[in-house]
Amino acid sequence: MGAPSGSVIERYDGVICDLDGVVYRGGDAVPGAPAALQDMVIRGVRVVYATNNASRVPAEVARQVAALGAPAAAMDVVSSAQAGAARLQAQLPAGAKVLALGGDGVVEALDQVGLAPVRPADLDGTGAADVAAVLQGYGRQLRVSDFETAARLLTRDLAWVATNDDATLPLPWGESPGNGAYVDLLVTATRRRPVVVGKPHPPLYRLALDHLGTSPSRTLAVGDRLATDIVGAATAGIHSAWVLTGVDRPSDLVGSGASPTYVVASLAELLQPYAVAERDADGWRCGGAFVRAGEDGLQIAQGRGTPAEAVRAGLAAIEEGAQDGRPTDRLREEALALDRLLDLAQASSR
Ligand SMILES: [Mg+2]
Repeated sequence: MGAPSGSVIERYDGVICDLDGVVYRGGDAVPGAPAALQDMVIRGVRVVYATNNASRVPAEVARQVAALGAPAAAMDVVSSAQAGAARLQAQLPAGAKVLALGGDGVVEALDQVGLAPVRPADLDGTGAADVAAVLQGYGRQLRVSDFETAARLLTRDLAWVATNDDATLPLPWGESPGNGAYVDLLVTATRRRPVVVGKPHPPLYRLALDHLGTSPSRTLAVGDRLATDIVGAATAGIHSAWVLTGVDRPSDLVGSGASPTYVVASLAELLQPYAVAERDADGWRCGGAFVRAGEDGLQIAQGRGTPAEAVRAGLAAIEEGAQDGRPTDRLREEALALDRLLDLAQASSR
């Protein structure tokens, strides 16, 4: 069964899908996302969920996603912990001991590739001469003494892989230190740097492509964060769809260096006809929307266009402004109008 003509999804065989901000927010599904994923799978598109979260095991992530109504089994989830374990598997003999400085996801990922995870507590007061590497991922249960154990190991010339370097972890109250903050702690103490495998670095994308079995040119990465999901996809050489249901807003694109292939208001829009912004004599037209950059900012006429079409037309006008040398501050100011348009549209659809 083919996807609707003119949709983004009809150009791809596989999707590498981010989770937080795309499929769910907190404990709730993003409206329409589970149904859109079901639709994709029915149409023969393969979906793999790629998460930087290394603390949870894939089966647990899959259960959460499936409970929201989206198609997901444990084998449909790839984590940065798995990418890290794969990296170490390639360079260590089978059965080598690896310090699992992280949660259950890190321990399980090492186990699954035939390495022997050792928890920091197992090394308390004992010699650790036979530990061959450190795999560091987020783990809430980690103690200061666990980082001391890791720092002591890292004085030797053994391999150090970090699952991801996200500086922060979003919690209901705001931003908490993420794995990148704990990696920095060891970087400072050891004056060494780990190999990082999670988004925006390519290894997690390569692992996801392996799982899908699709070619990079027929695979689409979908995510809400410009600096990780969108930049990472470009680094890995695959197309990206930036979904505006998560943390980053249109104004965040200005000066970010990210360049998403597609911009959609939700996952469901990947299955609908996609209009590209085009220049005409007066401004930028996208589907039924029209935007012109004037003296006092963007003039936006959404008309019969969707909010995403208005955003795409607006982003094209801003991109043109950047090429014409308009200052970044002013462009960001202009883009705030697109943030507001989107906020209003999303508030009224809830
Ligand atoms: Mg996300």
